[in-house]
Amino acid sequence: NWETRLQVRSRDEIGMLGHSINDLAASLQRYRDTRRAFFSNISHELRTPVTYLQGYAKVLKDGLVDSDKEKKQYLSIIYQESIRLEHLINDLFALSKIEEGQIKLNMEWMDLKTTIKTAVQKVKLKAEEKRLSLQLDLHDHVPLIRGDHKRMEQVLLNLLENAIRYTEKGSVLVRLTTTKEATVLSVSDTGIGISEEELPYIFERFYRVEKSRAREYGGTGLGLSIVKKFVEMQGGTVRIDSQIGVGTTFTLIFTHEKKQKRGGMS
Ligand code: ADP
Repeated sequence: NWETRLQVRSRDEIGMLGHSINDLAASLQRYRDTRRAFFSNISHELRTPVTYLQGYAKVLKDGLVDSDKEKKQYLSIIYQESIRLEHLINDLFALSKIEEGQIKLNMEWMDLKTTIKTAVQKVKLKAEEKRLSLQLDLHDHVPLIRGDHKRMEQVLLNLLENAIRYTEKGSVLVRLTTTKEATVLSVSDTGIGISEEELPYIFERFYRVEKSRAREYGGTGLGLSIVKKFVEMQGGTVRIDSQIGVGTTFTLIFTHEKKQKRGGMS
C-alpha cells in the first residue's frame, strides 16, 4: 500500500525530495489501481463467453437437447461466443502492443479511398443482414495522407462495425472530404446514439454504455480505445457527435500541416 505519505516539514532540498517521493508514491498507487481494474475487467470479459461456451456445449454433449431447431440454436450461440472471444483476444493483443510501445507504424503515402473501399467491402454482409444501407460519399481530389494503411483499415473496421452494431434501421454513411486545413473522414449512423453524459468515457478501455444492454449487442469495449490510439499515432484526431435516438458521427481529422511535420516519422 502506497498511501503512506512522508511528513514534509521543511522547504529545503530534503523537503522537496519528500514531495517528490510523495508524488511518485501517488502515481504508483494510481498505476496499481488502473492495473487491478484492468485485470479484473479482462478476467470478467474472458470468463463470460467461456461460461456460455461450456454451458451450451455440455448440454449438447450430454444429449439433453432433442429438437434439431434447439440444437442449431445452441450451436449458433457457441459459434457467436467463440467469435466474440476471438475479437476480445485480438483487441487485447493490439492494445497491449500499443501500450508497450511495440507497434511500429509503417507510414507511407496512402489513398484513404482505397482503404475505405476495402473496409466497407468487409462489413457489407453485416450491413445487409440488418438491412442497413451502407453509403459512400468520397470526394474527388482528396490528397494522399501519411499513414499506415493496415492500422487505418482496423480503425475503419472498428468504426463501421460499431455503426452497424448500434443501428437498428436506416443507414451508415462513410464520407471523405478535404478542406484547406485537413483531410476529414467520417462514419455516421442513424443508430441508438450516445448520451452527452457518456460521451467523455467511451474511449476508455472496456467502457460500454449501459453494460447490461451491451451483451445483446456483442462487442468488447476495447474497439474505440484502439481507434483513438491508432488515429493519434498517425497524427490525427477523433471527434464524436451524437444524439440519443438520432445517430452518431465519428470524425477523423488529419491536418495537412501536422501531416507534413510528422512526415518523417515511421
Ligand atoms: P464495443 O466493443 O462494446 O462496441 P467500443 O469501445 O467500440 O466497444 O465502444 C464503446 C461503447 O461506445 C459501446 O459499448 C457503445 O455503447 C458505444 N458506441 C460505440 N459506437 C457507437 C455507435 N456508433 N452508436 C452508439 N453507441 C456506440
